[in-house]
Amino acid sequence: MVAESEHVLVTGGAGFVGSHLCERLLREGHRVTCMDSFATSDPDGVAELRRHNGFTVLEHDVTRSFPDLGDTRLVLHLASAASPRDYLRLPIETLETGALGTRNALAFAQRHGARFLLTSTSEVYGDPLEHPQREDYWGNVNPVGPRSVYDEAKRYAEALTMAHHRQHGTDVAIARIFNTYGPRMRADDGRMIPNFISQALAGEPLTIAGSGNQTRSLCYVDDTVSGLLALARSTLTGPVNIGNPRELPVWQVADEIRTLTGTASTVRQIPGAVDDPRRRCPDISLAQRELGWRPGVTLREGLRRTIAWFAAGSGAAA
Ligand code: NAD
Ligand code: UDP
Repeated sequence: MVAESEHVLVTGGAGFVGSHLCERLLREGHRVTCMDSFATSDPDGVAELRRHNGFTVLEHDVTRSFPDLGDTRLVLHLASAASPRDYLRLPIETLETGALGTRNALAFAQRHGARFLLTSTSEVYGDPLEHPQREDYWGNVNPVGPRSVYDEAKRYAEALTMAHHRQHGTDVAIARIFNTYGPRMRADDGRMIPNFISQALAGEPLTIAGSGNQTRSLCYVDDTVSGLLALARSTLTGPVNIGNPRELPVWQVADEIRTLTGTASTVRQIPGAVDDPRRRCPDISLAQRELGWRPGVTLREGLRRTIAWFAAGSGAAA
């Protein structure tokens, strides 16, 4: 159990999920070091958090060995490009971050006797042949396609995490996060939610990739953060799915955003992405049973909050 005021290292802490995680930890009274190279984020993203005494930002690429940071009880390892646009732009960096970065983060956790949590992804299931996806499904991943740089980096990171656990007894946990959205996503990160909201607010057509019948299950970021911390504070190794089991087609997400923004925007079909998973929905019974966790924010409420944040201009600033 990680007690209040203990030191937590969050790699990738300046990114979308990481900044919310740092904020929650600081509110709970922890000292937090955010280690980030700003490969896919901006230092301004955590500017607000710097007013907390217990918050330190360290510009550092996780593929290089970690400096000494003193006693650390928990390492939350998020550093990795996450949006398809980012990892397709940074293919080799993404593979090296998953491999070398995870190796360095695990070595650091082992040295400090800290618990280590890897934020893996539903992408390890690829274009799934089983539905909904349970943690014991091994996936259907194209190992040489453009998305493989992310999928295989995360699959390797999972394997390395388990090897560390078996060989060195490192205290580890693996979370498989499903699509998460909310305030502080970069307007230009290319993911569905920031794209659709920015387009709707600008009165431009919403770009639907392919048929729009492919599905996703969208989890509001506060729920994802609660799930990650519940896993971090448990003794479970996992992997554990963290996501919202409400599944819906992409065209319906676009419709919902058009309704909530009241936009006059139409929709425009664009070519589908290569190897775009056709269906994605988590089975979260393991998290419910073992962590007592399930998401609580409805899609409508989560979208309202996210739209309000983008409408206030914060998305453009980020
Ligand atoms: P993000 O791109 O907003 O944040 C990732 C952060 O990692 C950025 O601040 C980036 O600068 C940093 N980073 C990347 N490479 C680094 C390196 N080599 N050294 C140091 N820092 C580096 O992405 P996010 O959506 O916040 O995702 C965070 C984590 O959660 C990722 O590991 C991602 O794979 C995982 N995840 C996210 C989602 C989602 O829907 N948001 C879904 C599944 C998994
Ligand atoms: N997508 C879309 N229009 C966009 C961006 C994405 O239709 O402007 C689709 C994308 O092809 C995928 C889904 O929305 O089917 C979710 O994409 P995202 O990039 O958010 O995350 P992914 O789940 O693919 O990692």
